[in-house]
Amino acid sequence: MSQVLNPYGHTIPSYLESDNLGPWGIYLQQVDRVIPYLGDLARWAETLKRPKRILVVDVPIQLDNGTVAHFEGYRVQHNTSRGPGKGGVRFHQDVTLSEVMALSAWMSIKNAAVNVPYGGAKGGVRVDPKTLSRGELERMTRRYTSEIGIIIGPNKDIPAPDVNTNEQIMAWMMDTYSMNEGSTSTGVVTGKPLDLGGSLGRREATGRGVFTVGAEAATHIGLEIDGSKIAVQGFGNVGGIAARLFSQAGALIVAVQDHGGTIYRENGLDVPALLAHVATHGSVAGFPQAEVLADDVFWDVDCDILIPAALEQQITAANAGRIRARMIIEGANGPTTPQADDILKERNVLVLPDVIANAGGVTVSYFEWVQDFSSYFWSEEEINARLVHIMKEAFAGVWHVAQHHKVSLRTATFIVACKRILHARELRGLYP
Ligand code: NAD
Repeated sequence: MSQVLNPYGHTIPSYLESDNLGPWGIYLQQVDRVIPYLGDLARWAETLKRPKRILVVDVPIQLDNGTVAHFEGYRVQHNTSRGPGKGGVRFHQDVTLSEVMALSAWMSIKNAAVNVPYGGAKGGVRVDPKTLSRGELERMTRRYTSEIGIIIGPNKDIPAPDVNTNEQIMAWMMDTYSMNEGSTSTGVVTGKPLDLGGSLGRREATGRGVFTVGAEAATHIGLEIDGSKIAVQGFGNVGGIAARLFSQAGALIVAVQDHGGTIYRENGLDVPALLAHVATHGSVAGFPQAEVLADDVFWDVDCDILIPAALEQQITAANAGRIRARMIIEGANGPTTPQADDILKERNVLVLPDVIANAGGVTVSYFEWVQDFSSYFWSEEEINARLVHIMKEAFAGVWHVAQHHKVSLRTATFIVACKRILHARELRGLYP
């Protein structure tokens, strides 16, 4: 079947035309790199370049001082060929539609890469939640949930935590959706508190996945985790847990950067003490047992492994040449630009891409969703064992494809995932 894009000869939808340099543009470049490896399925590839559904909502709330503030919210369902949409919700002042579109697409790739039965989706609100009181944050979360309520649901699209969203926010989202539905619907979001149908192991799952995939890859390149030096950008849910697991395995966490600053200790930071400091002070800044570095110097730190676990587009053509690590494990989504990818490949730095490296979170979200449907809950040992099994199996498959086609692990993961998505697309056929 040949593709006729539309009767007017337009090649891309109008809302994509002016904004192709941001995260969505990066995603499109990543897709273009895999098309030559898709064989007959390549004829469906245009599907991957268009989100299935985009919802932009106004989120008005009354502030504590009596005035009304408006925030812009988004929910994008990139692809649902393999199952309901699945992906987190981000609250950040710099969230854009391009970013949410890219994040939703990376969720499609990630979910297919680890073979959980979901499509890809993502949401966001353009807000700095640190400027809101708890009451304002709750009202904002509830109004946003109500606005996107027309397209989410346990069988339609299941949100989860992402940057600046947590178990409490998932509890408010679950409650708001349930109130509107008239019955308690625990399966509408994952990453909930344990007492509301959450899963053991979910909070640590993304960091545990980062650690599992990192340790697997290290064996392939002869890198010993015990005694290795690691630099971590972002010390939240993903970076903090990954740092803890690597340090428990004997690695030295030599540098950590977050929104408040950059700290360094040659002999390794005391990770439990740093986690406690961040829990109290909200940032690594001011941690007593460390040197302070200028933020930009973070990229020059002598280390074996670098874990970006903050935001997108951190590793660029401007700093990729300075990175001294042998391996980069992408805890964050989209931290490396395609130009930086090329520089790192040239320099023989192994990049474990987000779409496999941080898939542990959605894998345990899948377990949570399954447990909610059956109202039967598993032990933490069982959850962690199943998580590790899925991550190792997915990584082994991707490693094999990378070796076979002599491509990067990112391209290999996209090959595996895009084939699964497009095969589902083909089997389902077009309606009508
Ligand atoms: P979080 O809110 O718990 O932590 C974010 C961290 O990034 C914080 O330490 C913050 O200080 C730091 N940060 C923010 N801006 C920064 C800046 N400009 N420079 C340096 N550090 C900065 O968020 P999280 O859940 O850990 O998510 C981090 C990344 O991991 C995001 O890209 C997210 O999409 C991705 N991710 C998260 C999950 C999950 O389960 N939470 C799953 C997969 C991927």
